[in-house]
Amino acid sequence: MFRKLFSEAYIEFMLKTESPLFIKYQNDVIDPTAEDATYIHINRNNKRIPILPGTSMKGVFRSYAERILPNSCNVLSYSCAQQINTLQNKNKDKKPLTVYDIYHKLCPTCKLFGSTLLKSRILFDDSVANENFIINVRSSTPIDRISGAAKQKGLNNFEYVEYAEFPCKIKLINFFNWQVHLLIKILDDINDGFVTFGGLTSKGFGRMKVENVSLKIKYYKRQINGYINNDFYCEKEINDMQKIKGIVGKYKLDDSEFRKDDLQNEPNL
Ligand SMILES: [Zn+2]
Repeated sequence: MFRKLFSEAYIEFMLKTESPLFIKYQNDVIDPTAEDATYIHINRNNKRIPILPGTSMKGVFRSYAERILPNSCNVLSYSCAQQINTLQNKNKDKKPLTVYDIYHKLCPTCKLFGSTLLKSRILFDDSVANENFIINVRSSTPIDRISGAAKQKGLNNFEYVEYAEFPCKIKLINFFNWQVHLLIKILDDINDGFVTFGGLTSKGFGRMKVENVSLKIKYYKRQINGYINNDFYCEKEINDMQKIKGIVGKYKLDDSEFRKDDLQNEPNL
């Protein structure tokens, strides 16, 4: 179903911190007093530069999509893939499910972000902060759970990104229009404060702002009016968020769109 390349979409934007950003190393429970609890960075010319890993971005987008898309599964409890595997094991004598069967049984979130049964069609690049970032340190005093007093030993420092601008890039391969709509909606909801990043969000960390959104669309082996047409593909780029919303907003985030599986006849954006 997805072996042929039909279309690609690239969404680029700038993600700016609105409040401090704290990215944990792993998905552990955040303990700000742990020595290694800090944002992720790379070293370049002996300077530590914050990075926003593509995998953690994907995690943020995915868990928000699960919350807003109807009938989405929770990958951490009983995912679509587990449900489908159980069904297949029960009906062992029947023909195995085709890619189409599996696709139709997956929830909308798994259809976009992938599952153990279907490869993801979305890629998030790692984002390295622009030069103007600020890193800061805060102290936290562990509190004794029994006495409620500050523990004598153990004033700890933890580091966080006070300010940074992260240039971000998302790539979609063989997309359905509702999937682009979903991603644009998530960018909007980041601006409205519904989506936060990293750890310590209950303490007000991780609020971000999205700026300079651009959407580039490519169709292979199609010639379309209003696009730049080449031999093998045509493309167009839109840099205005209102225009982008007008174009993708027509494809509703509902079942009639989620059921579509024919990329060849998906309308041009
Ligand atoms: Zn699912």
